[in-house]
Amino acid sequence: MADFHLLTTDWYRQNHRDLPWRNTTDPYYIWLSEVILQQTRVAQGLSYYEKFVRNYPSLESLASAEEQQVLKDWQGLGYYSRARNLHFAAKQIMNEFEGNFPSSFRDLKKVKGIGNYTAAAIASFAYKEPVAVVDGNVYRVLSRCFDLSTPIDTSAGIKEFQDLAQLLIHPVHPDIHNQAIMELGALICTPKKPECNVCPINSICLARQNKTIENRPVKSKKTKVRQRYFHYFIEESNHIHLAKRSEKDIWQNLFEFPLFESLSEKDFQLKHKELSNKSIYHSEVITHLLSHQKLNVVFYHMKEINEEFDGREVFKIDVERLSDYPVPKLIENYIDRINNERK
Ligand code: SF4
Repeated sequence: MADFHLLTTDWYRQNHRDLPWRNTTDPYYIWLSEVILQQTRVAQGLSYYEKFVRNYPSLESLASAEEQQVLKDWQGLGYYSRARNLHFAAKQIMNEFEGNFPSSFRDLKKVKGIGNYTAAAIASFAYKEPVAVVDGNVYRVLSRCFDLSTPIDTSAGIKEFQDLAQLLIHPVHPDIHNQAIMELGALICTPKKPECNVCPINSICLARQNKTIENRPVKSKKTKVRQRYFHYFIEESNHIHLAKRSEKDIWQNLFEFPLFESLSEKDFQLKHKELSNKSIYHSEVITHLLSHQKLNVVFYHMKEINEEFDGREVFKIDVERLSDYPVPKLIENYIDRINNERK
């Protein structure tokens, strides 16, 4: 156990990436970085982190911002519930904690959107509280180093890995300890082709000895992908029609073109045939992947669109005002595409 800590932290001190959130102990900035980096690569998250620090330099400034502006600044990063929770939580800390960031793992978990992982990261990085961070990188490193075969997506697996990580945590340097394991998973012990030859813990890695690296970590279930079928409508004029997605679904509180959703592939094809005859132009079927959904989408350009569309309220704006509204990446990409084609 002591070897594990010494080997990983010595390696970390010499090899870690110099990232801005690692040069601060301010819990607000650490929180911003952790929320932005969930499900996001560092290369993509970095510019968003810099934007959020610039636009919302303090908890107060984030709490007093409009949600629509926060979503706009988040645009393109996906998983928009993170942005909504971030904004809600900033207001919650201002109101319930008198603007003071909670300073313990236990209190951090009282804040909306802060679960075990984020609470452990903030508590250990900002306050040196010895709580173990367990993210995807940590699961991979521990499952390989200790050659553990319990599936990580079961309650038994979650408990086993959490307990082991907590057993390993260094009481005085929990911040460096947690960072070191995560960095090792990100840079060396990668999902495919881990660099075992230069790995600082290769001498104690049991999966390497047992030749089980490719089978670690173990997952019990395959993620099910839901197919969805969207028809979007665009008016060929100087106006754009938008509708707000207010229901509890993907992209809640973001804006999109008027939408008709087919519930099966067969209905989608039939509707597509019918609409193709009515539209001035239609795109090919575009597929857009989300973590658990595959969207099959066609954009139809129409002469005219009614402001009451398929039972949803639709409003009209000038084309130039489109950039004021937060939209999903799918819509943003399509707008870029038609703008480029018109140049
Ligand atoms: S030796 Fe290889 S499999 Fe084991 S922890 Fe290091 S990189 Fe991962």
